This record gives sequence, structure tokens and C-alpha cells, in this order.
Amino acid sequence: MIELAEAIALVEATATPLPARRQRLLDACGRRIAEPIAADIDSPPWDRAMMDGFAVRDADFPGERPAEVELDVVVDLAAGDVSGVVIRPGTCARIMTGAPLPEGADAVVPIERAVDGTEDAHAGGRVRLREERYREGQHVARQGAAFRTGSVVLPAGSLLDAATVGLAAEAGATHVVVVPRVRVAILSTGSELVACDDMPAYGQTRNSNAPMLAAAVSLLGAEPIAMGIATDRPEAIRAAVAQGLAADVLVVSGGVSTGDLDLVPAAFAACGVEQVFHKVRLKPGKPVWFGILRRASASPTLVFGLPGNPASSLVCFELFVRPAISILAGRPRTAWHLPRSRAVLVSSVKGVGDRPVFLPCRLRAATGIFEAEPLPWTGSSDLVGLAAGAAIPGAVPGFIALPAEGVRYEPGTEVEVVLRSELGAS
Ligand code: AMP
Ligand code: MG
Repeated sequence: MIELAEAIALVEATATPLPARRQRLLDACGRRIAEPIAADIDSPPWDRAMMDGFAVRDADFPGERPAEVELDVVVDLAAGDVSGVVIRPGTCARIMTGAPLPEGADAVVPIERAVDGTEDAHAGGRVRLREERYREGQHVARQGAAFRTGSVVLPAGSLLDAATVGLAAEAGATHVVVVPRVRVAILSTGSELVACDDMPAYGQTRNSNAPMLAAAVSLLGAEPIAMGIATDRPEAIRAAVAQGLAADVLVVSGGVSTGDLDLVPAAFAACGVEQVFHKVRLKPGKPVWFGILRRASASPTLVFGLPGNPASSLVCFELFVRPAISILAGRPRTAWHLPRSRAVLVSSVKGVGDRPVFLPCRLRAATGIFEAEPLPWTGSSDLVGLAAGAAIPGAVPGFIALPAEGVRYEPGTEVEVVLRSELGAS
């Protein structure tokens, strides 16, 4: 049995970021790019009309304003049209938003500024334009104004959200180099388990750990892979473990303590997984197991055996699996763990003498410090106490983290708390 801090440090020392991979841009949404993206064109790629109107020469407009000017329309240009026509003095082009500004022109006068209507203001006709406040270059997006060929439009580390995906696409990046989503296989063990959409018979238990852990994995931005249930038979567990080792992380729940049917550590060993630790001074979650399968030619798989009791499983996920996934995903150290804070107790709680303990609570922001309300909790098989922390808008679910002291902490005492809400205190 090792201390909690040592166990967390071992996870942190064992996990290493996944290597970045080249992926199709759209497959990489939500990831951070590992390499900068440089543009293969200018943006705009050419001087672009930004209004429907007339492409004119600045020099045709006198210095004083307002100015009224009559011009020959020499060409009609819709978006997508290109023409070799040059706009000479006294002429203009009728132009639509998105068309390249023709040579010789340097500004667009909006169509609303045509004085006598625009029916005749097409190629071969004339137009009278009146501008109150005309400025050179108006309504033109200049070539390269947004970015230049070869320039970095997105530095390494940028998150691929809707805007950055659009920009990468405009810059010609059909593929990007990203740290891939961490794939986390989730396996439940126990002959008593049935799927959650079944009504359990006498002696059976719903496999609630699988959706719970899949949710925790998804909320971390990783990809849960459902491995289902393995019954408590060495061959069944070994076969399922062997399959789950194809993922970046394998999380197995149940079967890790020292009961007769706790076959999981043996299955890990049989599959070549090297044990890093087994059993941590912690409540709930003491039986937790952690190891690594190293490979000569591929990334290793990190392997966790979590206790079967749902609350123990979740506590162990938050303490050990969360930092592992975060490290694999290349997150900064500050984002590896759930945030911790100090809080004032609203009602009394009691620690245990031999182990640090994590008790479900509800946290509310008080003046300068949180208030922690311990929640009724019957122990490690009870998810109701944990879930109650999330029941009230404005409150954050969390844990009260008590040191290994078997003493009672009275209301008003300051304690350490772990904030469990990733979704914000909304
Ligand atoms: P174990 O860690 O296998 O000794 O299981 C401890 C307790 O957790 C037992 O009551 C199991 O029935 C229960 N348990 C184990 N796995 C799950 C699961 N996937 N979902 C819900 N409860 C479970
Ligand atoms: Mg079991």
C-alpha cells in the first residue's frame, strides 16, 4: 500500500503525451494543432469588391465632396467573373460583392449612390454617381490584407474550433498535425453485472460503472470505447483485457481487491502489463491498481483497475485516470487535476485514522471562500450522495478531502475541497 501523493506522482511520471499525427482537418475538430499552419495563398487572394456597385478610379472623383461624377460603364462583373478590361479615366465597371476589382479601379461606389437609377448602368451604358464621403480604397478588401502566402495563420497549440477550422481551410490546410483524441477502453468485470437497459434479477447489479466512466472520459474530451462486461472467469477477463490493450488507456472496474474472484491483477500480469502500484492509502478506492504495457514499436497502454463500487470507481477515476488522460492529451500541468480549494464546513464530518478520505459535498461560493455542505452518503456503493452535489443550480459538486486523522471537524472549520464540476457552476 502506498500513499496517495506517491500514487498520483507515479501516474504523472508514467504517462507521456501521445505523439501528434497528421489527420484530415474535419477529423481533428476539438483538437489542438501540434504544428503551425501556414497559408498557401494570400487572403484576400486579390483585391475584392465588398459591396455591390461600381468599380471606379479614385482620380475621377474631384477633391471636394460631395461629388457627382458621370462615368461610362465598360463591363459587368459578378462574383467569379474575371475580365481583362482595364478601367481607364472616365469609365467604371458594374461590380458585385466578391468579384475581383478590375485593373485601373481602386474603389467601389455602392449602387445606392447612383443618381438616376441603374437600368442603363450596365456595360455600354452610363451611370451618375454621387458620393457624400468618398474615400480612396473604400469597399475594397486589399489582396493579402488578412494574411500573406507563407505566413502562419494559426500557431501551434491553437484549438480547432469552428473559426479556426474555417481559417485553416481558407489557408489550404486540408490536413493538420494534432495530438489525437485519447482512446479509453472501458471494461466492467463481475458475473453479477447486467447491462443498464436490463431489469436486474435477484442477485444481479446494473453495470452503472460503464456509462459513468464513459461520461467521465467524454467530458475530458477523450473517446470512450465500450468493452461491455466480462464474467468472473480468468479466461473471460484475460481475453477482454487483451482486447482492451489496443486502446491508449484501459480502465477495468471490479475485481481488483483481494477476494477470491479478484482476477483482474492476474489477467493484467498474464497480458504482460507491468504493475506500477496496487492499493493506495485512500477511502474510498483503496484497492486501485495501476500499470503500463510497454511496446517496442508503438505507444504504451496505461492500465487502471478500479474498485467495482461506483463511488470508489469515480473517486479513483478523478484522482488517477483523469491526470493520465490529460497528460496523454498533451494538456498543460495546470489542467491535469480537478481544481482544489479551501471551504468552510456547513455541518460536521469525521475523518478516518489510517487513510485520507473523500466525502461527497455541495459547494457554494460564499464571501471569499466556498461553503462545503457534506451530503448524506451511505458509502462506496452509493452514487446518490455524489449526484446530489449537482442537483442545485449555482452549486458545484465536490469532495471534502480530509487528511488521515480520525477526528471530527465541526461546522465552521476550514477544510480542503476538490471541485468536481467541469461544466461550470451554471
Ligand atoms: P468488486 O470490486 O468487484 O469487488 O465489486 C465491489 C462492488 O461493486 C460489488 O457490490 C459489485 O457488484 C459492485 N460493482 C462491480 N462492478 C460494478 C459495475 N460495473 N457497476 C456497478 N456496480 C459494480
Ligand atoms: Mg467483482
